[in-house]
Amino acid sequence: MKGFIEQIYRNTSSYKGVVFLDRDGTINDEELEVLPTVVHGIRLLNKKKIAVVVITNQPVVARGLITIDELKKINNTLVGDLKKRGAYIDAVYSCPHHPEKHHPDIPKHAINFRIKCHCRKPGVAMHKKAMSVFGSKKIIGVIGDHTRDIAAGKKLSAPTVVVLTGDRGEDGLYDITPDFISDNFLDAVQKLF
Ligand SMILES: [Mg+2]
Ligand SMILES: [Zn+2]
Repeated sequence: MKGFIEQIYRNTSSYKGVVFLDRDGTINDEELEVLPTVVHGIRLLNKKKIAVVVITNQPVVARGLITIDELKKINNTLVGDLKKRGAYIDAVYSCPHHPEKHHPDIPKHAINFRIKCHCRKPGVAMHKKAMSVFGSKKIIGVIGDHTRDIAAGKKLSAPTVVVLTGDRGEDGLYDITPDFISDNFLDAVQKLF
C-alpha cells in the first residue's frame, strides 16, 4: 500500500498552533489560481506564528489522470506563487487514493492507489502526521469548502469554518454543522481568533 504524500516547505519557528486548510475550492480555484483574500489570510496566520498546513484529497492520482510527480509539482507551484506574494504555506499533505477498486478506465499505474486508506478526508491520518511534525498540540482550526473537511475537523475536536467558495459546503455528503461560515478566506481566518 502506498501512503500519503508529505511536502514540508518550512519548519523554522516555534509554532503556537496549527491550522488545516483544504486546497481546491478553499485556497485555489479549478484553474489553480489563488482565490481572493487568500494571500492576506495566510499572511495573517504567518504573523500569528500558526503552522499553515494544507490537507488535500487528490483522487485524480487514483483515477490515473495525473502522476504523483505531477501532483507534487502542482503543489510546489501553488506554494511558490503564494510565497512570492509573502504568504507562506508550511506543508502540504495529499491523499492520492480512491476507495473504489474496479473501474474499466483506470490505467495500470494508478491501480495501486485504489485502496481504502486512512488519509482520505474525513480521515485524519494526514492531520495527525502534521501535528507530530510541527509539534503543535493546539489546532487553531480547520477551513474548507466541503463537508469532508468539516467532518475531519470534528474528529479532531477543532473549530471548523466553511468558506463560501468552491463547493460552498453544499455537497450534502455529511450532515454536519460547521462552527462558522465565511464569505471568503480572510474572514474564515479571522473567525478563528
Ligand atoms: Mg475543496
Ligand atoms: Zn489516502
